[in-house]
Amino acid sequence: MKKNIKPRLFAKQLLQEGILWQPDDAQTHYLLNVLRLRLEDEIKVFDGQSGEYIGQICDIGKKSCSIKILQKIREMSHCPDVWLLFAPVKKDKTDFIIAGATELGVAKILPVMTERTIAERVKKERFEAQVIEAAEQCRRLDIPQILEPQPIKKLLQSWPQERILYFMDETGNGGDIQTVFQKATSAGAAVLVGPEGGFSEAELQLLRSASFAKGVSMGKRILRAETAVLSALACWQAICGDWIEGERK
Ligand code: SAH
Repeated sequence: MKKNIKPRLFAKQLLQEGILWQPDDAQTHYLLNVLRLRLEDEIKVFDGQSGEYIGQICDIGKKSCSIKILQKIREMSHCPDVWLLFAPVKKDKTDFIIAGATELGVAKILPVMTERTIAERVKKERFEAQVIEAAEQCRRLDIPQILEPQPIKKLLQSWPQERILYFMDETGNGGDIQTVFQKATSAGAAVLVGPEGGFSEAELQLLRSASFAKGVSMGKRILRAETAVLSALACWQAICGDWIEGERK
């Protein structure tokens, strides 16, 4: 391992300088057996609440280790307030969506069940482990929140009216993505992508009649659900989010 690139781990507890932190079993295995770190080696640790720290291995047991939290190196910051709503697809593609959305800086992930959603059982715990891993790698300081899957109708009924829901409409009836996003006025937003089979006619009608929803087109070519998710989020970050110079410290 290159010692100048410090591994970065998420701690499920509030950190502060001077305290000791015990990585969980998987993290300990990664540090000691995969990376083969030793006493006094340094890593980066973040807690999703207070920022990021340098930590140093100060004790190694048989199957455990302790990290001394030395110094805060980044103050807490949050990703822009955009949510992703997506219909779970096959397992490996859903994994790709979860990791990609985390890297693209979503604040919240809401799996939605639509008429044509064909998904293997959705496991929230699995998603949670994936967002943590992606957040560790991409250096974001907060962890996106994941909600339990909900039927689309129920979600629309209890939708916070002030948040615009941009639904990706492959029928060509939405506004073009650049124009729609440039007109965004609300602080928070959400992006909805349909399942592989597309939205049903009834779902499209429901979305089109909702005052808070706006249809968006991403051109003539039909994208796979996972491509659509990443494309929509990338456009949102470029036009309304934090893809501006100086944001990456
Ligand atoms: N089976 C459908 C395609 C579904 S694609 C068909 O053949 O018509 C899966 C989802 O990706 C869609 O529900 C939509 O939300 C999004 N999507 C794909 N291509 C898109 C495009 N060109 N514009 C807007 N949304 C798109």
